[in-house]
Amino acid sequence: EKIFSGFSKTRNNLAVIDELLLYWNLADTDKVLDELEEALLVSDFGPKITIKIVENLREDILSGKLKSGNEIKEALKKNVLELLTRKGSKTELQLGFRKPAVIMIVGVNGGGKTTSLGKLAFRLKNEGAKILMAAGDTFRAAASDQLEIWAERTGCEIVVAESEKAKASSVLSQAVRKGKGEGFDVVLCDTSGRLHTNYSLMEELISCKKAIGKVIPGGPNEILQVLDGTTGLNMLPQAREFNEVVGVTGLILTKLDGTARGGCVVSVVDELGIPVKFVGVGEGVEDLQPFDAEAFVNAIFM
Ligand code: GDP
Repeated sequence: EKIFSGFSKTRNNLAVIDELLLYWNLADTDKVLDELEEALLVSDFGPKITIKIVENLREDILSGKLKSGNEIKEALKKNVLELLTRKGSKTELQLGFRKPAVIMIVGVNGGGKTTSLGKLAFRLKNEGAKILMAAGDTFRAAASDQLEIWAERTGCEIVVAESEKAKASSVLSQAVRKGKGEGFDVVLCDTSGRLHTNYSLMEELISCKKAIGKVIPGGPNEILQVLDGTTGLNMLPQAREFNEVVGVTGLILTKLDGTARGGCVVSVVDELGIPVKFVGVGEGVEDLQPFDAEAFVNAIFM
């Protein structure tokens, strides 16, 4: 339900093809596929994927494999589902058996990092996990206050910097040690997100990852990058850069409720080969949903 309502703007974009498919006949093929191409591009599926989908359908229509509007629609959904599941496997969190599991949340400021961390804490706590938050965004003073509000809201403990000059890596290292010593199941580490073009942010993220690895051999179980869904395809270069530097294991795409560019989910998975693990479809505490490719496809195509 949340996914379905969250993707309503993208669904509206794509609905233009529905009537055409309803009255489809073979002579309309070019017209229908042109409209579909336009709708996919406007929804930010990206040119590469759009062409792939449209040409696959054209081939199957012309060879007689698809004989009705309904069959075309089903084939379209199947194409998108395949694109998502082929490359974006392991959409569930991989937390392993060792305690505590450590999740680092990375991404540029404003994308929804802190909010997503709070919502994730809420979700995992409801599943019975003992959660510790770590306020690793030591650069932006308000970030720590914001996370403290989430800690209170979700009833989780939090580790914050003891002084203004504390390094992010030492806050995270302290939190992971506490997590290990006090039997926490999951430590959720917030990190800084000042502009990604600033090289020192990348250095900081590397040192955070190393600091966690000194306490927990193997380092964080998951490094989740939060990407602002309203930026659509523009998120790709940013995602690539973070992935090259820190090795992103999963994506959280936020604010998909506020955008008609939901097709970017497909292009991001296809371009990066990194699974989308969660989608943010609202500001409420329950609005972080595990990414389910099938629910997504059914939400964007009625
Ligand atoms: P950060 O700087 O990356 O930590 O970003 P914040 O967590 O502070 O989020 C920035 C803004 O985006 C806040 O106003 C959030 O409420 C809002 N936000 C985050 N996720 C979502 C989402 O999935 N949907 C909507 N509509 N707003 C969101």
